[in-house]
Amino acid sequence: MKQFCIIGNPVEHSISPRLHNLAYKCLGVAANYSRLKLENAKDFREKFFTCKYDGANITVPYKEVAFANCDEVFGIAKQIEAVNTVVKRGDKLFGYNTDAPGFIKSIEEFKNIKNVLMLGAGGTAKALSFALRENGLHVNILNRSKNRLDFFNGANFNTFSHDENLPNSFDLLINTTSAGLKDNELPAPKELLLGLIKNAKYAVDVIYNKETPFIKLCKETSLTCKDGSDMLLYQAVFAFNIFFDNRFNEEDITKAMRGAFTL
Ligand code: NDP
Repeated sequence: MKQFCIIGNPVEHSISPRLHNLAYKCLGVAANYSRLKLENAKDFREKFFTCKYDGANITVPYKEVAFANCDEVFGIAKQIEAVNTVVKRGDKLFGYNTDAPGFIKSIEEFKNIKNVLMLGAGGTAKALSFALRENGLHVNILNRSKNRLDFFNGANFNTFSHDENLPNSFDLLINTTSAGLKDNELPAPKELLLGLIKNAKYAVDVIYNKETPFIKLCKETSLTCKDGSDMLLYQAVFAFNIFFDNRFNEEDITKAMRGAFTL
């Protein structure tokens, strides 16, 4: 039986085991998906191999560690130097990032987007900004602190901090900050957000399972809004396909995993 897991710290809250195990059951796959709470980054590779995993997903704070531990890295993971999916082939570890394509898939229903404003400049913002740009969108980054913007300036994105004037004309607003995750905060000053929201068409918060203050504010207008559940779902679907060499139909995996949200 194949063995997979989610590696992170903490991992208790992760619904990845629920998504993958339900898909194994529905699709008749002999596999098991568990959790590995990793205390020490230096043990990443050794733990993975001694526990005899065939593959894993990686969550906070080990996506960069996973990148550094792979023998080869593919796709957008190379640009952003962060890996959320690893798979073992022989004695080698191969790394991918499915957060970014998962997000792109999750906004497929949003039409005619040209300009995007990303709130936040952390790991998720990195992944999404490169993926959106690869899809032909013009990506701008707004962050509370200026120092995190250096990376994005270096990669030729337009960047702003909260005290700078920025245009109001963005089609899509994406909250990638953790504001609202464990607190009741907005990702930027309310007045600034109200101006942006007035002129936008769509808003996404990558936080899932919770109506954040940002989404609440967006819903007070005619904006089309969604949370991060579909991003989470599709990153898992794409990881599943990497684990099983694309042997399964994407729609069948999606249908099976969707059931995990209502369990
Ligand atoms: P990071 O720690 O890398 O980045 C956090 C960002 O949030 C920074 O830009 C930080 O700004 C900003 N921030 C934090 N608190 C506030 C605040 N009160 N006001 C304004 N800005 C704030 O986090 P990640 O990118 O790894 O994760 C971000 C979010 O994405 C999390 O909530 C996580 O749960 C979610 N996520 C969802 C996924 C999904 O599948 N749906 C997948 C991955 C992540 P500063 O630089 O000023 O500190």
